[in-house]
Amino acid sequence: EALVRPDAQADERAAESALRPHDLAAFRGQPRVSEQLGLLLTAARQRGSVPDHVLLSGPPGLGKTTLAMIIAAEMSAPLRISSGPAIQHAGDLAAILSGLSEGEVFFLDEIHRMSRPAEEMLYLAMEDFRVDVVVGKGPGATAIPLEIPRFTLVGATTRAGLLPGPLRDRFGFTAQLEFYDAADLEHIVRRSAGVLGADLSDDGAAEIARRSRGTPRIANRLLRRVRDFAQVRADGRITLDLAHRALDLFEVDAIGLDRLDRAVLTALCRRFGGGPVGLSTLAISVGEETETVEEVAEPFLVREGFMMRTPRGRVATRAAWSHLGLTPPTATTA
Ligand code: ADP
Repeated sequence: EALVRPDAQADERAAESALRPHDLAAFRGQPRVSEQLGLLLTAARQRGSVPDHVLLSGPPGLGKTTLAMIIAAEMSAPLRISSGPAIQHAGDLAAILSGLSEGEVFFLDEIHRMSRPAEEMLYLAMEDFRVDVVVGKGPGATAIPLEIPRFTLVGATTRAGLLPGPLRDRFGFTAQLEFYDAADLEHIVRRSAGVLGADLSDDGAAEIARRSRGTPRIANRLLRRVRDFAQVRADGRITLDLAHRALDLFEVDAIGLDRLDRAVLTALCRRFGGGPVGLSTLAISVGEETETVEEVAEPFLVREGFMMRTPRGRVATRAAWSHLGLTPPTATTA
């Protein structure tokens, strides 16, 4: 069902880690970020110092975790992984920070979802490599400063704008990851096929790339499903025709829309004449929760210019009508 959603599914972590590139040279795409990061790491290595803190922002599935692992590998440093929601109390963070070793890379995913007290502790740790451990309660409580090893924080967030300024300012390097173009995705899919030992033709790779919404995580996921299909229904070879048949079976269309995406667009055009229509009405008409339509289907539809959010409701664009093979009413000017 959720084949084209950008978030990692619980059961695909192992499959994903098998497909991660391990150094910057194998990390395809994001040329500017990759060059800047390479420079930062080489300089730190030459000086024998610990690299500045790094903030990676961008939508899910574009390689933030992968880059954090690459930073650790390139520095031959150990890696510690946690996430904002996992750190409820400042004490949780103090425990992690004081347990780091010198030069360790600390990857903190969803850093914008950390609690306030933890955030304040992190400021001090990033700047002075120190945490204040509070002992006791009430008026008798005292803060005992504790020195911690120099480490590199790699923070990841889906939107850098969600971070409070003081936190953002403490990163020496900030990178905004962008969606990948077709050529990069094709390269990634071919590399992944190599790792999996799958026989993939160039046009088969291009077809998977086209339907992957600019997102390596989705490209790798589609590749795994197409590979299953090739193994069970054919001789294992992934050709253009086979990729078509497999992705049609899984209801991922030529540009990566799935059943929900198409249902939303179809309802918008067919039942509401292209809108404007309120989000909750639209959601009811496709039998989904409002949140599902808003958070799951809409972002890609808006990004691709199929739908617009207006003060009066959702509106279908010409591209939506044309993708569905429908004729817009003549009054439509969107
Ligand atoms: P994020 O942390 O941004 O959600 P991940 O780093 O977990 O994304 O990447 C998701 C999947 O996509 C992983 O399997 C990873 O190997 C793959 N991937 C991401 N970016 C690239 C890239 N530039 N080259 C090759 N594979 C990539």
